[in-house]
Amino acid sequence: MFSYREETQVSSFLFSAMHMHSRQSPFAKRRERLWVLLEALKLPFLIVSNPVNIFYLTGFRGSAGIAVLGLSEAFLWVDPRYIQQAREQAHGVEVVEEKGGLLKAAGYWLGERRAKVAGFEDGHLTCAGLREVRGHVPSRVRLKPAGGLIEELRCVKDTEEIECIRGAARLTSAVFAEVIRLVQPGVRECDLAAEIEYRMRRGDAEGAAFETIVASGPRGAWPHARASSKLLNKSELVIFDLGAILSGYAADMARTVYVGQPTRRVRSLYGAVREAQQRAVEAARSGVQARDVDGAARKALARRGLARYFTHSTGHGVGLEIHEKPRLGRGERRRLAVGCVVTVEPGIYLEGWGGIRIEDTVLVGDSGPEVLTPASKDDWYVV
Ligand code: ZN
Ligand code: ZN
Repeated sequence: MFSYREETQVSSFLFSAMHMHSRQSPFAKRRERLWVLLEALKLPFLIVSNPVNIFYLTGFRGSAGIAVLGLSEAFLWVDPRYIQQAREQAHGVEVVEEKGGLLKAAGYWLGERRAKVAGFEDGHLTCAGLREVRGHVPSRVRLKPAGGLIEELRCVKDTEEIECIRGAARLTSAVFAEVIRLVQPGVRECDLAAEIEYRMRRGDAEGAAFETIVASGPRGAWPHARASSKLLNKSELVIFDLGAILSGYAADMARTVYVGQPTRRVRSLYGAVREAQQRAVEAARSGVQARDVDGAARKALARRGLARYFTHSTGHGVGLEIHEKPRLGRGERRRLAVGCVVTVEPGIYLEGWGGIRIEDTVLVGDSGPEVLTPASKDDWYVV
């Protein structure tokens, strides 16, 4: 990986890209992919305001900053709180300390560069933010909504990202394997959630990627129930939905556990969700439309007369954010590609009774789907 100084010295990116391909940092490779898109859209500059995207392209992990990526130069403005961090973390961008408004500084800079047009992240920059830029660029500069260009790139993960997600998934699975041992009647949902998040931190995670769900009995029928002070009872199902963040990347996993010896009905319902999840995992291959992965789960549940209890989509991309593109839902025609990382999480929810959801984080690999969350789905009841 380049140090900040080494990389800025070879700041004519396009040429360095051609000659030094094997030594490039992941950030340089990502910027190169972005330039291809920007050139195709005839956008010589892109104002990047989403901190997640700034991290993706430069390595700077602060929560505030504005970057402008141009075809031949890139700048990152940060306020004094972040200057040291930015100098240490950012790759391939000129870091500038700015005390008087980051968007204003970016606007001035674009004016100085005689830019005619610059794109902005219209899914992220607020109306007030856009007004701020407009107020400080000459009127000849056209500001153009660029949509979610970087989010598109993030859909396909590179090797470095896949390794991070793999680590997060492994940690999430290990934490679950420990915490399932604490499941017994009389334990509170929130205590189990706390144990999960504590163990994630002890395992080097930066935290939980989302509020951990532990939902028992009838509460399991709410797909997004929060862990409450309810006690687990015998003969109840408990949904766990958890994910750690490691090196900035999230994993997402759900398992359902039964407290006691499951009845025939419970076994049959669990088996149905398990089969639907397996079918959908097998369908998550390169070239397949996202809706067909969703369809595989839905069809399997329909065969058992359970389709109407499956009330959400089958999955979503996961990476720097817990919900990313692509969405695996009805009508989603986008095709999966090698390097997509998605969740596969069918579930059934029976009001007043409970729910069952099984979720894995899955890599669309060269030779088919690879489940990154290895926690058992067979040891699902606790007696
Ligand atoms: Zn989940
Ligand atoms: Zn999920």
